[in-house]
Amino acid sequence: MSKILIIGGGVSGLSAGIYARMDGHEVIICERGAMAGGNLTGWQRGEYHIDNCIHWLTGTNPATDTYKMWETLGALGGVEIMQGKSLYTYDEGGKRLSLYCDLDRTEREMIAVSPRDEKEIREFISAVRTVQGLSGIAGEKHNEGLTLLQKIKSLPQLYKYYNLSTGELAAGFRHPLLRKFIVSFLGNDFGSLALVFIFAHYCGNNGGIPRGSSRGMAQRMEKRFISLGGRLVLNKEAVKVNVKNGKAYSVSFGDGDEIGADYVIITTDPALVFGRLLDADMPGYLTSDYSDKRKMRFSGIHCAFALDLSNVPFEGDIIFEIPPKYKLRLGSENLVLREFSHEPSFAPSGKNILQTVIFCNEENALRFIALRRDRAAYNKEKAELSRIIADIIVNKFPEMKDKLKCIDVWTPATYKRFINSEMGSFMSFALPSRCLPMRKSNKIRGLENVILATQWQQIPGGLPIAAEGGRLAVKTVAELEKKHVHKKQEKHKNAPSHA
Ligand SMILES: Cc1cc2nc3c(=O)[nH]c(=O)nc-3n(C[C@H](O)[C@H](O)[C@H](O)COP(=O)(O)OP(=O)(O)OC[C@H]3O[C@@H](n4cnc5c(N)ncnc54)[C@H](O)[C@@H]3O)c2cc1C
Repeated sequence: MSKILIIGGGVSGLSAGIYARMDGHEVIICERGAMAGGNLTGWQRGEYHIDNCIHWLTGTNPATDTYKMWETLGALGGVEIMQGKSLYTYDEGGKRLSLYCDLDRTEREMIAVSPRDEKEIREFISAVRTVQGLSGIAGEKHNEGLTLLQKIKSLPQLYKYYNLSTGELAAGFRHPLLRKFIVSFLGNDFGSLALVFIFAHYCGNNGGIPRGSSRGMAQRMEKRFISLGGRLVLNKEAVKVNVKNGKAYSVSFGDGDEIGADYVIITTDPALVFGRLLDADMPGYLTSDYSDKRKMRFSGIHCAFALDLSNVPFEGDIIFEIPPKYKLRLGSENLVLREFSHEPSFAPSGKNILQTVIFCNEENALRFIALRRDRAAYNKEKAELSRIIADIIVNKFPEMKDKLKCIDVWTPATYKRFINSEMGSFMSFALPSRCLPMRKSNKIRGLENVILATQWQQIPGGLPIAAEGGRLAVKTVAELEKKHVHKKQEKHKNAPSHA
């Protein structure tokens, strides 16, 4: 049994902690924030609950290995999984297209909108079905995988989408509503294969939301870790991993404390680890991502509104264009508006909560982070944002006039402060075209007992990637332990006998 110290109590850290306890190690998770969960979070504002993560959770279909991982982590905890009718709807002037859970319906409605695009639509939906087969979530009951031969044969069909960005894929459709539907979810610069995978998982009943949403899931994982005998210390910020002779022996904290460990698992943004928390250069397999202009990082500007209406005129996430007068100001084309009728306890009876996301590029994110140094200017900006965003919503849904009350605004500066990612990004990098989301190593050359378990090791990040990173870090510990035992045995065997 070894002593493992985990830096960061987000999903990666909790996952590493749970797997490490299951292997019998002594485990301590040190989290700089006041609660565990990291980006998997939600908070109260008066009678309203703000949920700030799960739009879809890959791995809610019991046929998948990811589901089994979530079960092991206690993340689902037997609660109801809400699949919802649609993942998102794009609306232009009242004309709408949705990504329904029912893929046949999505296909039918896309063709009904634009019969001229039928060939392209059928080809796209066929690629989605192929990916469902690859993931083992195909068939009527979503429990049929492709054979190895079928898998090999499917590769040329997917190659087209591997090569195209979402913007290029959209340009292949003739109808403007279809084009906007395709780019509205991930923007123009993602690889279109990512969109094919999202359609595949969501329509394979593999992208639901567990009851209790983000905070509920984080609390269940935390409970599982503690029930296994793990130790979680909050408000404890790691400031230095102490290394001697190529081996980490302890971690120092902002409160002056120092804790010894046999292994250190780091779960935070590598951009703030190398040369800061750890006196080591960032491994080349990661620098290549940070320096690649196509692999952008992104963050978001969000508002939450209490809505004094009993019914909302849409379901789930609706995306629509920001009026031209505000586009430059907000630095984005589209606004995502989300309602929470699936979680009635998030708002008082007869009322609703609405949340918005406006995606933010690196430049804009850094601008917010710099602005927050002048608190008055930052607060003024937030007040102005809430006014503009309310105006955009009312312009779209006039019935909401005088019924919206802003209850919170958060920006990339908020993420920077709470999660400590370099530019407030909450996923890793956007997955560009001609790039496969391969998982990178979790090792640091010359520093065997420091292991990475971050979402940055597999683009584009997200909850399952974070959790899997934690699991793999503990697997690496097991391999190292085995290697050491083997080395000891060899040494013992080769030692001169005194008999
Ligand atoms: C608005 C939003 C929507 C999202 N939607 C989805 C979705 O629908 N599906 C999906 O799969 N994913 C989604 N994500 C992404 C998902 O939340 C993240 O991929 C995931 O939570 C990352 O987990 P992590 O543990 O790797 O990192 P983090 O959540 O960043 O956790 C890292 C933790 O380390 C702590 N920390 C940092 N520095 C230190 C230090 N020096 N000492 C101690 N602790 C430290 C931080 O406080 C944090 O708690 C969304 C995220 C957001 C914000």
